[in-house]
Parts: sequence; C-alpha cells; structure tokens
Amino acid sequence: MILENEQQRVEQIASRIQDIIELLGEDSARQGLVKTPMRAAKALWYVTRGYRQDTDKVINDAVFDSPSHDMVMVKDIEFYSMCEHHMLPFFGHISIAYIPDGKVLGLSKVARLVDVYARRLQLQERFTVEVCKAVMDAAGAKGVMAISSAGHMCMKMRGVEKQDSTTTVVSAVGVFENDDALRNQFFASL
Ligand SMILES: [Zn+2]
Repeated sequence: MILENEQQRVEQIASRIQDIIELLGEDSARQGLVKTPMRAAKALWYVTRGYRQDTDKVINDAVFDSPSHDMVMVKDIEFYSMCEHHMLPFFGHISIAYIPDGKVLGLSKVARLVDVYARRLQLQERFTVEVCKAVMDAAGAKGVMAISSAGHMCMKMRGVEKQDSTTTVVSAVGVFENDDALRNQFFASL
C-alpha cells in the first residue's frame, strides 16, 4: 500500500521514533522494542493518511440526482483523529445533515469524507467545519450542519486529567447558518 518514495519517509519517521525511545530513557535494542520504531511509524502514517487522500477520488462520482429538498442526516459516524497540539488521539462521533439541491451523496461517501479530515493532525473545531464544507462541496448542498462529540486523550491522560469529559462542537454552513427552524429540526433528529 505504501509507495516507494513514501517508504523512504516512513523509514525516516521510524529512525526519529527510535531516537525518541532512547531520549525517553529506554533501550531501543531491547527485544520488545526492536521493531517498534517501524511499527509506530507505519501506524502514524496510517492515522494521518487523510493528508494523502483526494476528496474527489473519495467521492468517485457517487453523487446522484434526487428531487428531494428534505434534510438528509447521517448519524453517529465514528471517527478517530489526532490532536494537533499534543499528537494524542481524540475520537468520538459526528452526525451530519444536509439539505440537497437536486443531488444526494452516496451515504458511505459521507463517512469516507469524515475519515479524510479526521485522519490528520486536527482540532475538533476545524475538523467539524471542514467536514461540513466538504459535504457542502461534494453534494452541491444548500446547507450542511454537523455536531461532533469526542474524548481527547490529552485531556484524559495528561493536563487536567478529566477522564470523563467530552467536547462537543456544532458547525453549520449555508442555509443552516441563520434558519432557526432548520437548526431545530437538526437537533430534534439527533
Ligand atoms: Zn491536545
């Protein structure tokens, strides 16, 4: 899956990770750690693969004509991302609704778009906005609204160590921005 020039980048990441392991006070030659740098590098490469994905290719023309202008909602799509401040995971669910304008997106494509923006160094706030805009563009929608809720390892494992806190972010573009009835319909559908 990893291309030849990508292989070189992954190998460089692995060598940096070996340095980090030693700087942390570990013996990188210890039996259990010998293969860790390359495994960790491949894992990092995988969880940031959104950088190397193209939204057009992800959508792959799965946009279909539809006369409906009623709200389409895809609920509770799970996502896994990495906080850009600490490079620690944050993960949870996002629900997305859009108002079609003659076209609808293949439902699995909404989830694929979520992955493109989750699989990189992110802020939950920006992630939620980017997903809205991507769905808006891909579907040519009249408006998109999303709510994400996630637990952040940088909150749970370090810092304030608030183990049960979740962060919720709401984002709206297009007709959802200033139509209270539509926004209420969104919240009522959750
Ligand atoms: Zn963080």
